Amino acid sequence: MKVTFLGTSHGLPEKERMCTCTMLETEGKTYIVDMGAPFADIAARRGISYENIKSVFITHPHPDHYAGLIVFLGIAKWHRRESTVQVWLPDKMLVNGLAPILDASPESSNMKIGTHLYGEGLFYDDGTLKVEALPNDHMKNVGNKSYGFKITAGTKKLLFTGDLTADMHDFPQAAFKDEYDLVVTECAHAAPQTLESKLSNIKTKLCFINHIYPFEKMDYLGALDGKFGYKIVIGKDFDTVEI
Ligand SMILES: [Zn+2]
Ligand SMILES: [Zn+2]
Repeated sequence: MKVTFLGTSHGLPEKERMCTCTMLETEGKTYIVDMGAPFADIAARRGISYENIKSVFITHPHPDHYAGLIVFLGIAKWHRRESTVQVWLPDKMLVNGLAPILDASPESSNMKIGTHLYGEGLFYDDGTLKVEALPNDHMKNVGNKSYGFKITAGTKKLLFTGDLTADMHDFPQAAFKDEYDLVVTECAHAAPQTLESKLSNIKTKLCFINHIYPFEKMDYLGALDGKFGYKIVIGKDFDTVEI
């Protein structure tokens, strides 16, 4: 599987970093985890085919994780008649918010694309990719749902923590129970020492840290590379890994 980090910034875009967006490519199919980056612009520049995109999975309803959906879905709806993309959303609010983009007649638009609400546990299996939603407390204070994802593709296992809380008590338990090919985690809300304590207890071949704020944390986190027997990478936009 090829994993491309299209956006690695924290809640705000930076000079060299767009907001969170990760592309997974396997068996000729493309999947997107979060779409905070201006994906339609990136797709145009990099020649990413809409027709190959099977699904988009959004971790939580903060705009740095879904803002790119608005333009992307509009284009898929009106200008990419062969697209069959399905968007998986954690909160009814987002399903309702995107409804006006999809509200059109079969004569004038693509009726194959759609949005779906998912909940805790295994919610997606298309024979290539399985996705399990791991709830966290990132948006508990405002009563909204937020998740990380455990993703399985053949023998490969990936874990996306999603955004977490400041003490990371909600770092997904699945991270400690299995061995992964790739763990993707954030460090905008917790101290780097808090994340370090979690990373010391996981088994993975590679850990990719993005969504880091403030940037001063990068030195501390970068120095953890190799400390726990696996590689730790501080993410930059358009970094690509084969797992
Ligand atoms: Zn975020
Ligand atoms: Zn968030």
